[in-house]
Amino acid sequence: MAHAAQNESNSYERTHFTSELQKLQTGTEVRVAGWIEDFRDIGKLGFIILRDVTGLVQAVLVGENLQKAKSIPRQSNILLKGVLQGTKSKNFPFEIKVEEVFVFSPASLSLPVDPTGRVESNLDTRLDSRALDLRNPKISNIFIIRSNVLKLIRDFFLENKFIEVNTPKIIGSASEGGSNLFSFDYFKRKGFLAQSPQLYKEQLVLALDRVYEIAPFFRAENSHTLRHLNEFLSVDLEAAYLDYYEIMSIVEELIKKILMHLRDSNNIESENSLIRGNALNDLISNPFPKISYEKCLDELNRLGEKVTFGDDLSDSSLKKLGEKYDKFYFIVDWPLSLKPFYIHEKESHPTLSKSFDLQFGYLELVSGGTRQHDVSKLKSRLVEQGLSPESFRDHLRVFEWGMPPHSGCGLGFDRLMMVLLGLSNIREAVLYPRDTSRISP
Ligand code: ATP
Ligand code: MG
Repeated sequence: MAHAAQNESNSYERTHFTSELQKLQTGTEVRVAGWIEDFRDIGKLGFIILRDVTGLVQAVLVGENLQKAKSIPRQSNILLKGVLQGTKSKNFPFEIKVEEVFVFSPASLSLPVDPTGRVESNLDTRLDSRALDLRNPKISNIFIIRSNVLKLIRDFFLENKFIEVNTPKIIGSASEGGSNLFSFDYFKRKGFLAQSPQLYKEQLVLALDRVYEIAPFFRAENSHTLRHLNEFLSVDLEAAYLDYYEIMSIVEELIKKILMHLRDSNNIESENSLIRGNALNDLISNPFPKISYEKCLDELNRLGEKVTFGDDLSDSSLKKLGEKYDKFYFIVDWPLSLKPFYIHEKESHPTLSKSFDLQFGYLELVSGGTRQHDVSKLKSRLVEQGLSPESFRDHLRVFEWGMPPHSGCGLGFDRLMMVLLGLSNIREAVLYPRDTSRISP
């Protein structure tokens, strides 16, 4: 028996994750590392249930090793060296016969949340100790899936000739004229945190044709909802020569690809009926419905909501619509007056715009549209909206260098994760959420 002595070479070295042990033969010597989930002492024998990020393994100890194990607090970080053998346990197909126990880091006896999940804590308490909360496999699973979905998105864009870009998050002027910007001192001037990559991604289309960005953006909104954060991850795309209908097709294809992947991954545990339910095949094989803004108004008025042309859809309107359309659907052709200056009008109905939102029930997931690329129209739209073309000079000049027509959208990635995993609060889908009352840890 040895301690993890400082001068011992390779004392941290593990040979396998617990999930890899099943493919090995009994008799194989292994070193696995993780946390003591449980310890049972039944006299001459003791059992450690060891957890790592991939799962659990049972280890059996006798003699000196058993004595040592008795003094190690649960949830301590250890390494077990031993040999695989068969077991009579109902819960495990094999176990490790321990030869040596290394204690890397003992855990305190009173932990702020129970990483096994047996004792439940409220979300605020969990977020205060997020690193420990993530030891609970139900919670870490959320972030493992999140990472898988990000990879799928990157693969999808690569297949479709999009170039990944990184636009600045520190900006010198209000990008869309919005009032939702955080500001701070930037070497004797004012700097702002970007609320979206909108203007940059449009500029990049000039040379790169199709671009996408996956990045955090910041909104100084004083909202207290289950779907808004002040820092959120956005998946933005912008593409030359496509219109908003083609962008909707791209978004739909991407989401269906993600749904199929989650359905077909056996290693993903999810009780979310969206992924595991029978309705998924229908969802994948049918086009997402497209409903015009004007049709939404008709339906809402029939349902007793008083909305007239030009009104934005309030929370209560969206809830009503979400009851009827409870999965993915597009709302298309919004009034131009509700849209930012860069959205293209519909030539056939100039009070409408070439724009869409993708909804999941009441929840807005994506906003997008065809962009205006005619610089004189952009200027008059700015003036209409009370913004000064002069302050957008750096942006507008790009449109005089041969700008292709283009379209794009922004997808709220944390909201997409809510939908995919059936989470009711966006904070569950974010490691360290930032909201009006939370700025740490
Ligand atoms: P909402 O009306 O829900 O506040 P928005 O219309 O202001 O959203 P957009 O500017 O259209 O949002 O941003 C594109 C997408 O980014 C949204 O559809 C949403 O998925 C996501 N998003 C926007 N703001 C937030 C936020 N504060 N927290 C989380 N996600 C957000
Ligand atoms: Mg929107």
